[in-house]
Amino acid sequence: GRTGASELIADALAAVHEAFRDLDEGTVATYIPELATADRSLFGVALAGVTGSIYTAGDADAPFTIQSLSKPFVFALALMDRGLAEVLEHVGAEPSGEGFNSIRLDPATGRPPNPMVNAGAIVTTSLVRGASEEERFARILDLLGAFAGRPLDVDGRVYVSESETGDRNRAIAYLMHSAGSLTADVEATLDTYFRQCSVLVTARDLAVMSATLANGGVNPVSGERVVDEIVTEWVLAVMATSGMYDYAGEWLLRAGLPAKSGVSGGLVSVGVGQFGLGLFSPPLDARGNSVRSVAAAQEISRQFDLHLMHRP
Ligand code: GLN
Repeated sequence: GRTGASELIADALAAVHEAFRDLDEGTVATYIPELATADRSLFGVALAGVTGSIYTAGDADAPFTIQSLSKPFVFALALMDRGLAEVLEHVGAEPSGEGFNSIRLDPATGRPPNPMVNAGAIVTTSLVRGASEEERFARILDLLGAFAGRPLDVDGRVYVSESETGDRNRAIAYLMHSAGSLTADVEATLDTYFRQCSVLVTARDLAVMSATLANGGVNPVSGERVVDEIVTEWVLAVMATSGMYDYAGEWLLRAGLPAKSGVSGGLVSVGVGQFGLGLFSPPLDARGNSVRSVAAAQEISRQFDLHLMHRP
């Protein structure tokens, strides 16, 4: 039977799902045409504990493309491959205060502000080791699968849709190549980045992926060590300061947890040493964060006193 604690968590997720399922605000992203076909009523909530228990409510098994939620995990892979010092030569660790698709680079160094916005994530992707672009992407797909605890696939339609319409990311990448922060082949790097953003996941996957970060790099379901513990500390620190784009400060104020959002409507949030939370609902607010996911995650944080600044 379920313990008292697990019953409490299951009931809380169900209640939060119930409370926000009718919050029908925001707009589904359309700048990647294929994303515009998403069902705006979908809403999934999942929590994975560091003990490996998983709780879900709503559409926790509905597949969607990972988009920007790939960024913290690929940042982790770049850190494993290159170390912190080399990564920081190419990308900064400062919140940008700007949107996810900002073109601003540091005038002195040519570096993008951080790995959680598109510019920084494109550089991060270029830092993943691989003898060929195919091998580089295969390593990224394997890594995302190791975080999720199951093999993952690419949504070919979303990949083609973003690749065909990705002029802004292309422009950013060429700008960074000219500024010296992106040193790899531009088109090959963009292709890998677009593929990485098109990997299919569910809210349940996101919960396990973020629980792996919460658990010091060991997947609590599969038992596999995915990344070094120090790497999870670096990734979570950057998620805390920059994971929610130009809402990062207010997010930390209200939820008090490291988090990352994506334009398909996903959100991950992490209670270090405790749990990973994965949420999904396509309609976005003006800053590109999922309306229902943000509301639900903040409510869960409040209910369980999870704020980082909460006095233990
Ligand atoms: N693939 C998307 C892009 O590059 C990711 C952006 C996002 O999820 N915020 O525009």
